[in-house]
Amino acid sequence: MSDLQAILDRIAAEMAAAPDRGKVADYIPELASIDPGQFGIAVCLADGTHCTAGDAEVRFSIQSVSKVFTLAMALGRLGDQLWARVGREPSGLAFNSILQLEHERGIPRNPFINAGAIVVTDALLSGHAPREMLGDYLRFLRHAADDDDIHINESVARSETETGHRNFALAHELCAHGNLQHPPDHVLGAYFHQCAAEMTCRQLAFAGRFLVNAPELPSLLSLARVRRINALMMTCGHYDGSGEFAFRVGLPGKSGVGGGILVIVPSRAAVAVWSPGLNAQGNSQLGTLAVERLARAQGWSVFG
Ligand code: GLU
Repeated sequence: MSDLQAILDRIAAEMAAAPDRGKVADYIPELASIDPGQFGIAVCLADGTHCTAGDAEVRFSIQSVSKVFTLAMALGRLGDQLWARVGREPSGLAFNSILQLEHERGIPRNPFINAGAIVVTDALLSGHAPREMLGDYLRFLRHAADDDDIHINESVARSETETGHRNFALAHELCAHGNLQHPPDHVLGAYFHQCAAEMTCRQLAFAGRFLVNAPELPSLLSLARVRRINALMMTCGHYDGSGEFAFRVGLPGKSGVGGGILVIVPSRAAVAVWSPGLNAQGNSQLGTLAVERLARAQGWSVFG
């Protein structure tokens, strides 16, 4: 057994025994009943090999991890024009905060808070019906992961459509400031569906390979854009917990309220971890702890 496999097995065993597992997101009713006892991890290395441990083959709702893929698609399609509509600064506020958006006149702080991701989805809808945009999105995920068995969970999307009042408020506020080009219900329909994509840890780690920048791994974007997406993951990928994640883990990561985190170790690996219980900032409690331990065991950090 490789050293890495032994490390993943040890971490999965430690996480299985962890007493404090955080709290499953219940503001999306379909997610409220997920068993918080689950934990999975997958690592794809720069040489193309991979290792997994725990519930790495269980599908989970990727939620805001989707924002990394839609940002990559939007940058590929629109290039730097996107930055006229969304900023690149950490928000220091909750993922769904309305306060800052009004204060800053409808320009979201970054593409990873909800308001910013809604603008990115709106940009992807340019010239495309929501169904086509979601088709392109699924094609991107499947191509990146080299796996066609990736789908959107309609019940999760519907559940969020029925209860996503804060996201509707954000979309209307963006519209009021002229920063939405399509009707809020169209944009949110697409946004809720992109968030409702389900993947396993193994599929997500594979899909993240294009952000690693290693000769053996797929390249879907220019190196300059890969670096920029990593910079945004580092500074903004965990909402108002981004500083804490950078401090503890030292690697770019993007979390979702389904409990998944995609972590990139530049030039070395893509890591996906999942445990549904969240901390106070809406980031996976055990997922964060697990990647902190993995990074320490492997000596992985962007800080040398
Ligand atoms: N669909 C969720 C929302 O918009 C995503 C939030 C998250 O994963 O952080 O509220």
